[in-house]
Amino acid sequence: MGEFFHVIDGRLEGSGARFDVINPARGVPFAQCPDASREQLDRAVEAARRAFPSWRERSFADRRAYLLKLGQALEAAIEELAPLLTSEQGKPLDRARDELKRAAAQFDDLSRIDIKPDLLRDDAQGRVELRYRPLGVAGAITPWNVPIVLAAPKITQALYVGDTIVVKPSPYTPLTTLKLGELARHILPPGVLNVVAGGNELGQWMTEHPGIDKISFTGSVATGKRVLASAAATLKRVTLELGGNDAAIVLDDVDPAQVAPRLFQAAFVNSGQVCMAIKRLYVHERIYDAMCDELVALARQARVGDGFDPGVALGPVQNKMQYDRVLGILEDTRRSGARILTGGRALPGPGYFIEPTIVADIAEGTRLVDEEPFGPVLPVIRYTDVDDAIRRANDTRFGLGGSVWTNDLARGEALAARLEAGTVWVNHHVGTEPTVPFGGCKESGLGREYAELGLKGYMEAQVVKVPRAPR
Ligand code: NAD
Repeated sequence: MGEFFHVIDGRLEGSGARFDVINPARGVPFAQCPDASREQLDRAVEAARRAFPSWRERSFADRRAYLLKLGQALEAAIEELAPLLTSEQGKPLDRARDELKRAAAQFDDLSRIDIKPDLLRDDAQGRVELRYRPLGVAGAITPWNVPIVLAAPKITQALYVGDTIVVKPSPYTPLTTLKLGELARHILPPGVLNVVAGGNELGQWMTEHPGIDKISFTGSVATGKRVLASAAATLKRVTLELGGNDAAIVLDDVDPAQVAPRLFQAAFVNSGQVCMAIKRLYVHERIYDAMCDELVALARQARVGDGFDPGVALGPVQNKMQYDRVLGILEDTRRSGARILTGGRALPGPGYFIEPTIVADIAEGTRLVDEEPFGPVLPVIRYTDVDDAIRRANDTRFGLGGSVWTNDLARGEALAARLEAGTVWVNHHVGTEPTVPFGGCKESGLGREYAELGLKGYMEAQVVKVPRAPR
């Protein structure tokens, strides 16, 4: 696998301290990662600050040209990087290729968006414009579920609008992000993109650092709150993309056999480790049993295993802590009296494998329904009255996504709009688009990423007033 380095001011650096990176399919370390010291973070931030004035002066078109090159370099490195991503994250090799491909496209897609000043007033007295200026140095902190697809948009948004950046990946999946930094080193001016790896403490140092102007954080709600509190000391701008406990509400007019594969995919993608996966499935009583049967058949068909084995659909849970958490939720589910229709156990072997699990006759008040499980487990909740289902779906502190499934699109749209979530879908769930803002309501986040709204989150608004005539 070779050696891994931070990228600081365009140079590769190791650290005195290192930590193990574990392959979750085997449960054993397969590589070592340098653990950045505070002094290395300081130098990364200084380098980003030094690079900022000239990077800011470049045109959008110029910065886009750099980002396109970076996207092309990532695209060209897919075959080399996909095995590394599978080794550290666990996802099947084809899914790792898909993630890298999607990330490579983001460098292009997100740097096409125009940021134009808004003309607020233009009259006899003068002209008032709302403009947007680069903020300075951004800090990006990412989780372990889709490390590259989450790092690439943060990098693109920051760099495209004229900020420079320091990126810190999760200590569970730092390696592919470090390699992305290595690719960028040959393309971008020194200091524009720095990548430092380390533990949670390194993340905290970033949120406290006076040289960082904005934090873009993706991770859990609990950590997001810590980030916000810590960023308050320097009044950093903060974007938080946090956890979700998305509800999907299936009306009684759909054919279970037809929609079940799409619901299954949206719940079990990446072994359920997706912020906006379906995590609570509300199904009308009239089609409840048929829907459960379809989902059970799909769960039994889905092959679980090492991401390097051909034909594997679902990889392991990414780390031991999360694996133990999901098993704890399953234990609680068993005690609750709910019916585990299929799955419900760890698979034998050294890796962190859990059987795809479908749970019926379960309701609010259990951990599986109330918390974000973030694993291959789906509760199917029976309802009779759709107004009641909407109320129950909204009765949570989460608010990331939600969906309604029906053959009556107008009714679906009206019901979906009543869900308290940052994104609502009809007959769909999961996915982002570069021109569509993404983010959460309530405790699922703060601010938005992607699209013009997301890009402006990496900028500072500035009002410019000019009188009609000099006086
Ligand atoms: P996490 O919050 O444990 O860690 C995320 C990152 O924060 C890691 O890089 C970690 O080292 C760092 N960190 C930890 N403590 C910190 C602190 N005090 N200050 C600053 N940084 C700190 O999250 P995770 O377990 O890696 O990821 C899973 C969570 O992420 C789930 O809840 C999932 O829903 C959420 N998520 C959200 C989105 C979204 O876009 N809304 C996308 C993917 C994942």
